[in-house]
This record gives sequence, C-alpha cells and structure tokens, in this order.
Amino acid sequence: MENENNNLAQTGNFIHSYIQEDLKDNLNKIHTRFPPEPNGYLHIGHAKSICLNFGLADYYGGKCNLRFDDTNPAKEDDEFVRSIKEDIAWLGFDWEDRLYFASSYFEKMYECAVTLIKKGKAFVCDLTGEEIREKRGSLNSPGEESPYRNRSIEENLDLFERMRKGEFKDGEKTLRAKIDMASPNINMRDPVIYRIAHIPHHKTGDKWCIYPMYDFAHPLEDAFEEITHSICTMEFEDHRPLYNWFINELDFKIKPRQIEFAKLNLSNTIMGKRYLRQLVEEGKVDGWDDPRLVTLSGIRRRGYTPEAIRNFCQMVGVSKASSIVDTAQLEYCIREDLKAKVNVVMAVLDPIKVVITNYPEDKEETLVIENNPENENLGSREVTFCRELYIEREDFLEDAPKKFFRLSVGKEVRLKGAYFIMCNEVIKDENGNIIELRCTYDPETKSGSGFTGRKVKGTIHWVSAKHAVKSTVNLYDSLVKMSEDEKELIENENSLVILNNAYIEPSILSANKMDRFQFIRNGYFVADSKHFEKDNLIFNRIVSLKSSFKP
Ligand code: ATP
Ligand code: MG
Repeated sequence: MENENNNLAQTGNFIHSYIQEDLKDNLNKIHTRFPPEPNGYLHIGHAKSICLNFGLADYYGGKCNLRFDDTNPAKEDDEFVRSIKEDIAWLGFDWEDRLYFASSYFEKMYECAVTLIKKGKAFVCDLTGEEIREKRGSLNSPGEESPYRNRSIEENLDLFERMRKGEFKDGEKTLRAKIDMASPNINMRDPVIYRIAHIPHHKTGDKWCIYPMYDFAHPLEDAFEEITHSICTMEFEDHRPLYNWFINELDFKIKPRQIEFAKLNLSNTIMGKRYLRQLVEEGKVDGWDDPRLVTLSGIRRRGYTPEAIRNFCQMVGVSKASSIVDTAQLEYCIREDLKAKVNVVMAVLDPIKVVITNYPEDKEETLVIENNPENENLGSREVTFCRELYIEREDFLEDAPKKFFRLSVGKEVRLKGAYFIMCNEVIKDENGNIIELRCTYDPETKSGSGFTGRKVKGTIHWVSAKHAVKSTVNLYDSLVKMSEDEKELIENENSLVILNNAYIEPSILSANKMDRFQFIRNGYFVADSKHFEKDNLIFNRIVSLKSSFKP
C-alpha cells in the first residue's frame, strides 16, 4: 500500500499539517484509532474514516487501534463486532494486537468519575431527564443550576457508589460534571456523565447497572490508549471543549488532539446506520449484505474491490466543508480497478435467436478470442461457433435509422471474433414479437483472417445457442433517487431488475463465487457470494460500462 500512502501526503490536507506541526521530528509517534460503535454494519462513510486513521498511521510509521465504542448496551451486539472486524480486514488494514473495547475500561472510567467527585467537579443529580433538558437553557439563554449541584463530596461519593450497587431505578439519578450552566457552549452545561440502566451488556453481562455517557467515555478511551490524534467527524466539533475539560481535570499526560473532518455523503444514497438497520429489520433488502446497500458487506457482495474503495477515499480527500460526492465517482474507481484485471466474456442478457441459414446444421468451429484487450497477459480462450446463436434483443432493429450500426434487415454486422452476418428474414409469433432472425454469414470474413474486402460499422456479441449456459443476472440501481422537484430522496422502485433468461458463453462454467468478469457491453459482474452455485449461476452487476464521471 506504500504508493497509495505517498499519494495521501501529496494531498497536503490540513490533518497532515496538524500532525506534522504537533509531532515534528517524532512523526512515527502518531497513534490514531478507528472507534466504531458495534450497533450496525460498517458503511462506505466508515471506510473513509478507516482509510484516514489507518492510512495516517501507516504513512508516518505509527499505530492505529481498533476500538469498539461499546458504552450503550441497548443496541450493541457481537454480530456487529464480528462483521466490523471482517470489513476492516477486507479493506486491507491491520490493527495487529491492538483490539480494544471501551467496556473493558468501565472500572477505570468509574475511577475517573470518582476523581472528579473528589475534586468537587461532579455531583449526583436527582432531576429527571426531562427536568435536566428543561433547565439546560438555549443558545440565547443560560441554563439553570440543579438544586442538587451543591451536595457535599461525601454525599456524592456515597450516592454514586450506591448507584453502582443497583440501589436506584433507571433514570432516578445521574452523575453530572460540574462545569458552567451559563457557558455559551451547551455541551458544557453540567452534562450527564453516568446514567443508570439495568440492561445487560454484550461484554460485561450484569456486572454494571450504570454506564458512562458517550461524551465522558470517548475522550477517556482516547486518553487511556495514548491516542495522539483523535480524528472524528464535524458533529463533534462542539464537544471538543468538553473533551479537553475532562482530559485536563483528570491530568492525563498525553492529551489527544481532536481533529474534525466532514462526513462522506454520496448522491442518491442514505448512509446512516439507523436507516440501514431499518431496511434490514423490515426485510426490504436481502440482509446487511444486500448488494444495493452501501454497507461494506453489501458493496463487497456487489463486487467492489478493496483497492477501488481505498482509491475512492483517497480521491475524495478530506475537508471541513460538507459536500455530496457523486456516486459516479465511486463507480469510476471500480471500473478503473477492474478494466485490466478481469476476463471479458460474451453474455446475452435479453436473448433473441439467430439462425445462420447457410451454415451447415452439424458444423461447429472453434474460435480463439482474447480474454482482455487491455491486458494480453490474461491470454485467450476458445469459443464455439455454430448455426444457432443468441444475440442481444437490442442489437437488432427492424426499421433501423441510418445511424444504427448493429443488425437490421439487409444490413451486415460483425459477430465478435467470428463472421459478418446479414439478416434476411424476421420471424414473429402470433402477437408480433420477434422470435427469430434468419441470417446468412460470409465465410470469407472470418475474424483474424486478414479479410479486407469491405467494412462494417458495428460489432455485436453473441453466444452459441447450443453451448451457452443459462444464468440469472441481477441489475441494480440505487435504493433511493431524487424526486422530480429535486427536494428529497424517494424510494426507487426499480432498484433491482432480475433477468432469468440470460445466456453466457460456456467458459463461465469455471467461475466460482465472487469471481468477477466484464460481460461485453453490459458491464462488470460478479458471481453472487450467497446464492451462486455451479448449477445455479447468478451474477450481480457491479457497475455498467458507461460513466458520467470525468476525473
Ligand atoms: P452513522 O451516522 O452512520 O450511524 P456513526 O458515526 O454513528 O455512523 P460510529 O460507529 O460512531 O458510527 O462511527 C465510527 C467512526 O466512523 C466515527 O469516527 C465516525 O465519525 C466515522 N464516520 C461515520 N460516518 C461517517 C461518514 N459518513 N464519513 C466519514 N466518517 C464517518
Ligand atoms: Mg454513533
């Protein structure tokens, strides 16, 4: 990954400047972390954060931890821990022996809370959540001090210990930092730092019935792990003064520097975990790895490669200003990655039969076709030509306009790697649908024979009707799209089109789950990781070939 990281430096983004300014000659002391909450699967936005945190550590020869921020027992689960680890490893990053859980610091966090109480900097409050909210004030008006704010240190220590022992019900008491109810920053107005929740935790079981709030836990986790640069998204900018307050009051030697950057947003995409979780729970998609989802497991099953995602994250860079990246840019990265890597094969997704009337009925010819015109190292393969073929329905037009360079009656076209054919007759069923094209071929025009007699404008792909393998092909579009008035994202009812009657040349029989191909003209495809079997070929379209993005 060395090359990519060198590019990272060239972007010269503000995060690099801060790090270089802070660490000067000790750049390899950089210590970052990726801190997911295990309450869902990771998505492409998380990939940006992962590439940034692990990428910076790699680049400067420092370290990056994987830390599960599991302080909210209500929504967290081991399944998410497992999937998150799998996704990060798949993306190509390694946390080595640095796998941490916030929950393993609960005892230390408790001690930190006790220290604050002893310093007179935290108090047990009996107000309800509702009352605390009411007294918090607004952006324009100060908050109101809690009547419990001036409890003695002894009383606070006693009550906090009894909170831990389970003497009180959920919501009956909280522990709050004693800072400043008149602060212009609402986060500093005596925030709650511990709450009572009689809920078992996925790691600590029934051991705790009080849990630290995220704003208290997060800076402590960074400090315990001696993180030098705590990189996070913009919504935490206003929380930074509070984090610094905890770090200073608790006298940590290494004070993590928080640096915020704007979240990745993609056009025609809703990214948040809450939304993804709802789609999965309501059964609107085929699990967390549905290929239409922007979860990392979804785009993996869709056929995206880790290289493409890393390049994409690099290309979009980091900034403080929020923006929406065109999904076409992500698609561009996957095409660029695959174009010289995968075999190009012929697949007819919507077939129409072609009978070559002047080709002998039992004759078969073996033609040799290169596997990838962009990469001769991929070699070539054999394809059988015979009398009955399938071509793409859209490659024939009965009344073709002048500019239509594919097949029509009385016009010639080249069959890829084979011969020129001309259509002479169209056969229709009783409803007027075309069911067969009767054509003739010119034996002089074989591909590679040096024939120069005349030229045709178009080349179309085909498969042998006798040899081709029937397959299922899934074509995807985004789950949501912009409404006509461009005001909101609405459900896209055509996000999945299933074609059950596709025919692919027989070389496809050697494919395994997750193998990728280009199907000529139809795009890049992957053998589905869940449902593909040798006797049930299912391919997912990764991306079409046309791009609206210009780098
Ligand atoms: P979501 O908003 O999707 O629920 P989250 O921020 O709650 O995500 P966390 O598990 O808390 O998810 O995030 C782990 C890390 O990933 C955090 O540092 C967070 O800032 C970062 N992150 C989350 N979403 C994005 C995004 N769209 N772009 C960049 N970084 C992100
Ligand atoms: Mg979160």
